[in-house]
Amino acid sequence: MLMIIKMGERTLDSQVLFFLPPAAVPSVARISYLGSDVVVYAQQPSSSAFSETYALLSKGSSHSPRVIPVPYGGDAGSTVVRNPSNLTTFTGVATSQLVNRLLVHLADLSHQPVALHLAVEDDLSDVLLLRSAVPYFLLSQTAQEAHDNALLASRLARIEKKAVVHAFYLSQDPASSIEDVPEDKVLPFLLAKKHSSSAPSTNGHVTPLNGANGVSGHVNGHANGHANGTLSTPIDDPTSAQLFKAYEAAVMETGALLRRPKRALSSSGAPAAHTVIFLVGRTEIATAAIDGVAFVTPSLLSPLPPSKLVSAVPPSATNVIVLEQVFKWSTKWTPLYLDLVSATQSQPVRVHDGILGDNVSEVEILKLLQKVESGETARFQLGVIPGQSTTSSTPHVPKQEAAYTKILEHIFKDRLDVANSPSLVAAQGEIATTPEFALGRVRGQVDARQELVSLVESLIEDPTLEPALHSLLSQWLLAKDDPTKSSRLGSEVVNQLTQLSSKSSSPAIRRALDLAKHFPALSKWIIGSDAWSYDLGASGLHHAIASGLDINILILDTLPYSSRTSGDPQRRKQDVGLYAMNHGDVYVASVAVFSSYAQVLQALVEADRFKGPSVVLAYLPYSSESSPALEVLKETKLAIDAGYWPLYRWNPSKDAKGEEPFSLDSDAIKNDLRQFLDRQNHLSQLTRSTPAIAAELVSNLGDTIREARKKRAQQSYNDLLSNLDAPPLLVLYASDGGAAEKKAKRLANRAKARGLPTTIATFDALTFEGLKDEEHVVFVTSTAGQGEPPQNGRSFFKALNAAALREEKVFSNLKFSVFGMGDSHYWPRAEDAHYYNKPAKELDARLEKLGGERVADIGLGDDQDADGSETGYKIWEPKIWKALGVDSVEVTEAEPEPITNEHIKAASGFLRGTIAEGLEDNSTGALAPSDTQLTKFHGIYQQDDRDIRDERQAQGVEPAYSFMIRVRMPGGVCNSSQWLDMDQIADEHGNGTFKITTRATFQFHGVIKRHLKPAIQDINRALLDTLAACGDVNRNVICSSIPTLSKLHRQVFEFSKEVSEHLIPQTSAYHEIWLDKKLVAGEAVKDFEPIYGEFYLPRKFKVAVAVPPTNDVDVFANDLGFIAIVGPDGELEGFNVSIGGGMGVTHGNKKTYPRAGSIIGFCTIEQGKYVAEKVMLVQRDHGNRADRKNARLKYTIDRMGLDVYKVEVEKLLGYPLQPARAYTFDRNIDDFGWHTGEDGRHHFTMFVENGRIVDEPGREFKTGLKEIAKIHNGTFRLTANQHLLISDITNEELPRIKSLLAKYRMDNLEFSGLRLSSSACVAFPTCGLAMAESERYLPILIDKVEKVVEESGLRHDSIVMRMTGCPNGCARPYLAEVAFVGKAPGSYAMLLGGGYYGQRLNKIYRESVTEPEILSILTPMIKRYALERKEGERFGDWTIRAGYIAPTTEGRLWYDRMGGEGEHQVVA
Ligand code: SF4
Repeated sequence: MLMIIKMGERTLDSQVLFFLPPAAVPSVARISYLGSDVVVYAQQPSSSAFSETYALLSKGSSHSPRVIPVPYGGDAGSTVVRNPSNLTTFTGVATSQLVNRLLVHLADLSHQPVALHLAVEDDLSDVLLLRSAVPYFLLSQTAQEAHDNALLASRLARIEKKAVVHAFYLSQDPASSIEDVPEDKVLPFLLAKKHSSSAPSTNGHVTPLNGANGVSGHVNGHANGHANGTLSTPIDDPTSAQLFKAYEAAVMETGALLRRPKRALSSSGAPAAHTVIFLVGRTEIATAAIDGVAFVTPSLLSPLPPSKLVSAVPPSATNVIVLEQVFKWSTKWTPLYLDLVSATQSQPVRVHDGILGDNVSEVEILKLLQKVESGETARFQLGVIPGQSTTSSTPHVPKQEAAYTKILEHIFKDRLDVANSPSLVAAQGEIATTPEFALGRVRGQVDARQELVSLVESLIEDPTLEPALHSLLSQWLLAKDDPTKSSRLGSEVVNQLTQLSSKSSSPAIRRALDLAKHFPALSKWIIGSDAWSYDLGASGLHHAIASGLDINILILDTLPYSSRTSGDPQRRKQDVGLYAMNHGDVYVASVAVFSSYAQVLQALVEADRFKGPSVVLAYLPYSSESSPALEVLKETKLAIDAGYWPLYRWNPSKDAKGEEPFSLDSDAIKNDLRQFLDRQNHLSQLTRSTPAIAAELVSNLGDTIREARKKRAQQSYNDLLSNLDAPPLLVLYASDGGAAEKKAKRLANRAKARGLPTTIATFDALTFEGLKDEEHVVFVTSTAGQGEPPQNGRSFFKALNAAALREEKVFSNLKFSVFGMGDSHYWPRAEDAHYYNKPAKELDARLEKLGGERVADIGLGDDQDADGSETGYKIWEPKIWKALGVDSVEVTEAEPEPITNEHIKAASGFLRGTIAEGLEDNSTGALAPSDTQLTKFHGIYQQDDRDIRDERQAQGVEPAYSFMIRVRMPGGVCNSSQWLDMDQIADEHGNGTFKITTRATFQFHGVIKRHLKPAIQDINRALLDTLAACGDVNRNVICSSIPTLSKLHRQVFEFSKEVSEHLIPQTSAYHEIWLDKKLVAGEAVKDFEPIYGEFYLPRKFKVAVAVPPTNDVDVFANDLGFIAIVGPDGELEGFNVSIGGGMGVTHGNKKTYPRAGSIIGFCTIEQGKYVAEKVMLVQRDHGNRADRKNARLKYTIDRMGLDVYKVEVEKLLGYPLQPARAYTFDRNIDDFGWHTGEDGRHHFTMFVENGRIVDEPGREFKTGLKEIAKIHNGTFRLTANQHLLISDITNEELPRIKSLLAKYRMDNLEFSGLRLSSSACVAFPTCGLAMAESERYLPILIDKVEKVVEESGLRHDSIVMRMTGCPNGCARPYLAEVAFVGKAPGSYAMLLGGGYYGQRLNKIYRESVTEPEILSILTPMIKRYALERKEGERFGDWTIRAGYIAPTTEGRLWYDRMGGEGEHQVVA
């Protein structure tokens, strides 16, 4: 019994729940799957009904063939050839490329049991190319026919062991239904023996086939169609007759199963027709009733013996019209037409050919008949050719890929010639995008240009040539390879030749003018995809590489790094780079635009200049066109840093000049590249001459460390064995922030004090196997992110979970206890409560499950407890001593003090530590932990690449360490030469970009250890330094950028410099370590810190100078703020003094909070630096040095009381501060756009999103600013909002600077008020403290919030929105109107209610929100604000008035009433 399957619905096919999209594809795919041993299918750029059907059937069908996907654009034919079976089926969409690939393999396949089901859109041109190459070619018009023919094709292929091509239409009527053969009948039918009567004749004699099954014989009422015998029947070729007989047999068997008749040629229409129309393709017109016209629709196109064709033409017919759906057939006649001409050559009929289009009406058929009657001989066309629009449309180029094409257009402009540009498709068809086509086109161009050169040479020899033209032609000949000159001279030559051509009939001149477009030296490119790398030969890539032509090939590889292992393992991509390099004379570069824009530019320019083939491999990983930029960035970084995609350039032309042809542009490198390098003499020499560099390039940096670690563990184990009196104790810890580590170390010290031989290590330092031998182990772990284990415990946890899954009892000797640290309020929602101390709880349960014996119950430390995690710890620790039998041991010795930052500072010899030695240590990319604290004082932070931390951990190598360098630049002002130096330093030592920070200075990222010293030397050479840019000292002093008040700016800038210089540390360590100045180490007594003393400050100290009415520096966020007070005469009189501002908080730790500064009085300009000094000194002496989380000035003030603090300051000053004076702030954002100062100089404040100076496609700010710096005689001012002023521009400079700003689109301020007022910190991937994305994510979030803002009519309204990746608050989030502070990847605390000009702290509105929650909160809120706000009312003020949040009146009360007000409150 047959089952009905409705297309487009879910329905049950005997056993399988089967989803059918409205098309024939799933039906064909189903038969393919159920009837084959091997199914090969061509993947589509997006998922297809083929793959979806196979996926569904793999879950529900009892038959399971081997299913092999072939990547899009790959050579499917070779996969079919390599996978023979009793029936191998291929399914795919018949593109030109696919058909061409299949065609070359059909000779091998034609006698194999292979069914090739090819779906076509609406044009049979491509697929009909296969007709003559296979024994059988079936064509289906409807979905039902596609199903039936799929079964027939499978049967034919299996039984006859021949290749069958089955073409069918991709789109079908969605309403149609298919009668589908049940699954359990498919295979038995296909395997059933052939019916004996259908066996081919064995005597070799084959009779002409006019049998009943050939044609539906209605034509004249006789079964054979020509029973009257008036027409002679042609003799069929025996082979095709035999094939046809086998076809008929299979048709009969299929018909018997399906109960549907099947014909090779179906006829309809008038019985004694004068005209027969053969319709090859999908059409409705076969049902038209037109007098004297019969229609024949073939479902078999090969073999079609002549006798069969003739039998379809009644003797009454005088005209036969063959209409075929071939819209881009390039030869004179269409395929079936010739067969019919040949078959009817002895008949009194005329055969015409034509194209069958869509939407054919009866009227059109009548018109066609008229044309036939009138004797018209041109190829007919019936209906509309839909392909005209399809084939002429330009293929879509994914937006990501446009990044590279834009760069090409940008660099080469008019010279760019993309030989396979999608724009050529309109004229040339789809084939125009193939490499074969492109190569042919380039060859043609090269030949044409060569001909032009010869013509010009012959013209020059013509003595009658005018001297001016002769000279011009000679010049062109000399400059013909010069990109600029060849074009300019070429157009002059063409002008002159054109004038001359009117007077001269010289064929050389005419021909030269024909070739005029070849005068300019073009940059010729072929752009292809990584699909070409699967088969270098078949893709034409090999021919292009081996051609020797001056051609550039850009291959885009879009496979994301994290998906690199998916796909057919049989089909490995070739390394095109290595392949091309092995040719020796090919320029090769491997680039990635989202890693190094500069390198891409360099490679493309070099490729263009190289005389010969160039291959540029460009990485652009994205999974779909909607992939966010962040994903592309991350995947790029992963691939490059893991060495999967090394950045390099190989320029053989350098070899000829005696230079090194190979440039490695990325520090990470893969083994295959190393092997290649080793093979090359060039690098062997490099390896010998600079072994340290080469070894570092190719080695895993962490090996040495691991070795050392192993030795240490062995030593500890030996120590344990030698002390058998007391049970040895192993303390293992996993810690991200250091708190768990500190506790574990203290525990280990206390254990030693009790006489226990104790060892301590991180979870991951010990192998899982090693743990089996341990007897007493205590575990201390903190909780990371969403209940994950800390970084240095993740491998251990993985091994533990795996063992637990296997239910092994591996820890039968182990006695254990676990202490966990977490925050019960970190995740306020009830459903997230299980994240609290999750690693510890899981560890405790798993250890028991694996056979361990718990000697003391798990201890849980909660940050919310009165004493933080200590509360739980104090209960747990005594249980450990009791379990180990040492609880009664009296500890008399004082516990060794844990090493704190204070110890490190004191022991550092005025900030020296062992930094100098650490810089010399090549075994690691890191510095010693204590030195990493000290280098902060030198403006350096050690970081590691967070994006690839897990990856490197898995590889067993140390993290990818690099350093951030921050410049000290008081007031944020530098000159053009300094700007150029910074630009160069970023390229030479950093990651090619630099950042304007919230301290209005430069920051470089990605500086590896061996570049640290040269980078700092270069910064000092630029007359800047990095001393005290970080660390427990006064940091960079910032001041308002005020473009309009030139004099005032000069004064506050000078004041800022003065304060900075006054508070600078005096240690000579900086100069000694970085600038190789005379060593004073060993005689460190000479070093003297008059202000700081040897302990420096308890914590960092920040100073800002604001000039009302702008508070662009957020003066209240600083430990010390100076607010400029200007007299009625416009002169600076002095400053109001604000103290105790600070942003840093620790999530969940209520002892920490942000604080806005408090004004304590007024001082004069001269007093300012001394006020700064004394405020700092009181903090130095009273700040909390025992707890860094409570050490900032804000806590000291709140502990001492503001008045007391003020008195202490005044005591040191020796005079009281004057009363504070009136001032008004009205904003804390920058004044974008053009301003002119009182001195007539101009200033442009440009928008630099989050301060990142980088070149991006279409946004080349780094290059643009460099160009400006080259000509600008004024200054650059960096703002604390991370934007930039091009300052002090003279009238003379103005036009050029304006034009450069416009050229690089840096004058664009067409952004929403929201975006212009936004700010984000760096966070991932470089900041070691980041818990969530910030700089990379805020612009994306703003894109989404902007839509709401636009809809609400607030496009130009400023709302201050800030984001940071952690609660340290570098982008001053706690003073924003709305802020997001990272808690875990994708999760943020949301804060509301800050004052617009930085005068009031905001407050936590929601403790953790994700993007959808952010949008659902902000959307109605912003809309309401637009409707309800009063005149001039700011968003932060409104959120308070509207009752969303309570105002924060002072830092200490920050936690009060958090979580929203009234109906907006969320109760945890
Ligand atoms: S706020 Fe946190 S994540 Fe952002 S840069 Fe500062 S420390 Fe890093």
